[in-house]
Amino acid sequence: MVKTLAKSAAKKSAKKPLRKAAAKPSVRKAVTKAKKGKAAKVKPARARKKADIAAAEGASPAMTPAQIAEAFRRLAAANPEPTTELTYTNPFTLLVAVVLSAQATDAGVNKATPALFALADTPAKMAALGEDRIRELIKTIGLFRTKAKNVALLAHKLVTEHGGEVPKTREALEALPGVGRKTANVVLNTAFGEHTIAVDTHIFRVGNRTGMASGKTPYDVEVKLEQVIPPEYLRHAHHWLILHGRYTCIARKPLCERCVIADLCRWPGKTTVN
Ligand code: SF4
Repeated sequence: MVKTLAKSAAKKSAKKPLRKAAAKPSVRKAVTKAKKGKAAKVKPARARKKADIAAAEGASPAMTPAQIAEAFRRLAAANPEPTTELTYTNPFTLLVAVVLSAQATDAGVNKATPALFALADTPAKMAALGEDRIRELIKTIGLFRTKAKNVALLAHKLVTEHGGEVPKTREALEALPGVGRKTANVVLNTAFGEHTIAVDTHIFRVGNRTGMASGKTPYDVEVKLEQVIPPEYLRHAHHWLILHGRYTCIARKPLCERCVIADLCRWPGKTTVN
């Protein structure tokens, strides 16, 4: 009897049509586009990887100046006032947050910094807090021992050599413990409005993939970007490119189907055909 009931239940469920999962708007759009024959096939992972290696070696086709200008026009229209995702309240807390973000995510840094900045939001307070307390407060962040040491030292240096202020020159910033070219560029751009571009892993990838600025090193890409980006977009270019790389032009599987510059992008590995 039990067997018979089980069999009939199985029969019923086999006949029952499967409920279709609702497709996401982006997927629906891509399907509609594909039906019209305009877009595309997803390229195999191997092809994308090959194209990425070629791009990182500076072998991607280049975008034209008109295409670069159009790309920034669209990125600006989509996000007119982009900014960092790190939490900060003044140039000093921004500097500390950027130092802490090396090889860590912004979200991870933002979890630790509220408690740290509540106790020390100036170089003098941070120097007084001391390395041991700083280390305890940031222990959830990768490389926290080295970072705690650097933050304590840089706070002390700001007090003794810069009157407790964050300097506004690259040379002075780069002379601080734990501060390299990339960190200095972020602070100069975000805190002081300079037209600098801090090339991190996201900007390096986007510059190379799109053909805006190819280069084998972050410095190569930085110099080229500064040369090719129209001046009116330089102030925010850094954040537009970072956010594009972080959320759309993702390393492992770029979301080309929803990319606003897909038709301009020259990367042979992109997953749409334009
Ligand atoms: S089309 Fe857009 S998401 Fe795709 S590779 Fe190019 S820039 Fe990246």
